[in-house]
Amino acid sequence: MKRVYNFGAGPAMLPLEVMEQAQQEFLNYQDLGAGVIEISHRSKEFDAIINRTDELLVELANIPDNYKILYVHGGAQMQFSAIPLNLINRNPAKKASFVLTGNWAVKASKEAARYGTSIDIASSEDENFSYIPEFSSSDVDPDSSYLHITSNNTLFGTRWHSFPDTGDVPLVADMTSEFLSRQLNISDFGVIFAGLQKNLGPAGLALVIIRDDLLEHALPETPGLLNYKTYADQHSLANTNNTFAIYMMKLVLEWLKGKGGVAAMEEQNNAKAALLYDFIDDSDFYRGTAQAAHRSVMNVTFNLNNEELLGAFLDQAEANGLYALKGHRAVGGARASIYNAMPMAGCQALVDFMQEFATNNS
Ligand SMILES: *Cc1c(COP(=O)(O)O)cnc(C)c1O
Repeated sequence: MKRVYNFGAGPAMLPLEVMEQAQQEFLNYQDLGAGVIEISHRSKEFDAIINRTDELLVELANIPDNYKILYVHGGAQMQFSAIPLNLINRNPAKKASFVLTGNWAVKASKEAARYGTSIDIASSEDENFSYIPEFSSSDVDPDSSYLHITSNNTLFGTRWHSFPDTGDVPLVADMTSEFLSRQLNISDFGVIFAGLQKNLGPAGLALVIIRDDLLEHALPETPGLLNYKTYADQHSLANTNNTFAIYMMKLVLEWLKGKGGVAAMEEQNNAKAALLYDFIDDSDFYRGTAQAAHRSVMNVTFNLNNEELLGAFLDQAEANGLYALKGHRAVGGARASIYNAMPMAGCQALVDFMQEFATNNS
């Protein structure tokens, strides 16, 4: 069977063991004679799946009791609407603050401006989002209902290595491209959300982890199925949820637990990223595109010093089983997305190929 090393940014590769288990159970789940995709979201079999998913998330991410776990329709970008609808009214000034570290933060800020006032307190747009801008806590308007950041910038290959202290203003983090790749202190955040398709499962659904006091502020016009309280009160089953995506996430979480959990995964992710960055830094054929101190561990962005060779590089990489390395058009060059499911062997294969390509074209 052909399987490539898939460096795509998302939807991204899932662990082979997870894909195989889903395949094996697809037609006949637990001897039911039906697949998960065919049974009721209110069946006892699905109830067991969603409960186990909750348990695994609590265990793996160390989620305290005063946080709710929600499975929300519409992927990550839908939360750019849901977050202001649910939170911007926390303070009647209806202000939300943003740190612009890339396209996703910019979109979130624009979307929130439909419901109140968006304040962009810092931006790295001046250098095409190649770094995480600094600001001091006193730059955060204390009347802000929340401060929104993108913890890992998928397109530009940067991440927040540490998180800002925002005082009483809840910190909201879009962790779509890194949730469960590194250890976190969940209590530092008011809301964490992540579309599933980078590190957790299939596209179209978002995991939302929200401190329970933040469930009480939705604007009156909030659609029922974007109101986080609806999800919290009905265990994300107010209507038919994407049961298959939740099931797939459960398999991914079981796999992660089997690999030793988030701490072990973080260590492996650091080693994978270091292999690539060290090679790029030592080379005079390639260069990284993000500033070294702000580099992502999940999305390694780089270019060839001779950009005319980029097309040949990408074609030959694909012919060698290294799939989807093209960078986002906002950055150009190449990008290796190396989420949890990418094994060290995939990163090694990429480095070997890059070495060979450099030798053949120098
Ligand atoms: C991929 C991505 C998104 C968009 O996710 P959708 O589920 O397609 O809306 C948003 N934020 C970040 C950080 C991403 O990486």
